[in-house]
Amino acid sequence: MNYNVPHTAYDSEEFRKHGHGLIELLAQHLEQTTTGKSPKTINWNLPENELNFWKEYLENGTLEDFFPEILKRTTHVHHPRYVGHQVGIPAPLTALTGLIAAMLNNGMAVYEMGMSPTAMERIVCDLLAERIGYSDASRGILTSGGTLANLTALLAARKAKVDHDVWNKGHKQQLGILVSEEAHYCVDRAAKIMGLGETGIIKIPVTSEYCMDMDQLRKRYNEAIADGIQVFAVVGSAPSTATGIYDDLEAVGKFASENGLWFHVDGAHGGAAIFSTKYKSLLKGIELSDSVVIDGHKMLMMPTITTALIFKNGEHSHTTFTQKADYLLIDSDEEDWFNGGKRTFECTKSMMSLHWYILLKVYGEQMFDQNVTQLYDLAKDFANLLESDPAFELALPPMSNILCFRFVDNNMGLKALNQLNQSIRQQLLEEGEFYLVQTKLKGVHYLRTTLMNPFTTADHLSQLMTKIKRVAESLRPQMIN
Ligand SMILES: *Cc1c(COP(=O)(O)O)cnc(C)c1O
Repeated sequence: MNYNVPHTAYDSEEFRKHGHGLIELLAQHLEQTTTGKSPKTINWNLPENELNFWKEYLENGTLEDFFPEILKRTTHVHHPRYVGHQVGIPAPLTALTGLIAAMLNNGMAVYEMGMSPTAMERIVCDLLAERIGYSDASRGILTSGGTLANLTALLAARKAKVDHDVWNKGHKQQLGILVSEEAHYCVDRAAKIMGLGETGIIKIPVTSEYCMDMDQLRKRYNEAIADGIQVFAVVGSAPSTATGIYDDLEAVGKFASENGLWFHVDGAHGGAAIFSTKYKSLLKGIELSDSVVIDGHKMLMMPTITTALIFKNGEHSHTTFTQKADYLLIDSDEEDWFNGGKRTFECTKSMMSLHWYILLKVYGEQMFDQNVTQLYDLAKDFANLLESDPAFELALPPMSNILCFRFVDNNMGLKALNQLNQSIRQQLLEEGEFYLVQTKLKGVHYLRTTLMNPFTTADHLSQLMTKIKRVAESLRPQMIN
């Protein structure tokens, strides 16, 4: 038996060599992308070709080529012509906190497996609570993603509002939550995981402005009660993902308190606006909520994946998962804020608080303010550009940095235009200069941009419009025939 074999994987000289090489490569990448010098945001490749490349690489590739190949074969979010999905553009400092977290690998479930990051997590969550407008009775946690955080919040809501001990005994009665039909699909999934079924997920139609319709909310709630459904929570979107429209949190909050419901705010994307002096009014009423989710890896310039879940009443953050795990957690009625495993779904989680903490320390909250404010301002400028060009139609005036629009032509019907806009998007993807996405609203196909990148300017967006018109011209003859 040769016990030394794995040691080769821990060679400090090899680490130093490849580490320096990688940092150099990433620094060049950062320079090439943020300045817009590199010609493409994505080198589109078919899934089968990509699969074959990496199968072949496993046989014949070299370690030297590994990092450069990954760079070539991924989407470059730091490029100002990246205007697609709502992932954050990580500040390089957070790539370094990611590196140290990966190497030290403290598991975070108990205090001594992550002492510093646990203390930082408390500081970060307390700050967020204060900005939300909660008192110091608030507590929060960091967890792996808005999806998991929304589920955790709804479990806390059920624990707090349903008399029956569902966590330990299961439930026979039909329980329900109220949520906008435009809410992120993960809320639907969370409710399904909780066993609420289709009947228990009461979808509230939106107004013509795409925010939750308050009259419909009251109506559907009354109907649900009449049908014997025990409704325990209402979820507000801040904003909803497809359209970027914020629900009226103040109105939803009042409705929740009148009816004794838990009020949860899904601010995964736009909860970050609590830092924006100019735009925080979009979140008016957030202080009425019982829980809020905010992703760090969206508008707060952090890498995937780190989400804050903040509870108005700290008790809810540690009573949700009352469960025995004696080897890990000593059963106690104490709050034990420093034993994270008591309060998250996760057992092991990454040392994600490092990202938040270092950005706050080095750049301060004002950088979050500037980032969110600039991105939201840019969406308004883009909307003006689109509106002044008859070749385009805006789905809705933007409330955030998410903006849906489409190419239009008076001679074409809805079906042909839907097809044309889909083809435009496919062509743009394959050319790779710009990266944007698409969505369907009430049967109409739109191009969708999320302006995440602080290097994107109105100039880039006007180039995008020119490009779309050119692509449309080249595709249109095929469409009409
Ligand atoms: C992105 C998003 C989510 C999902 O969060 P993840 O961090 O991707 O799991 C949930 N809700 C809203 C409104 C979002 O924008």
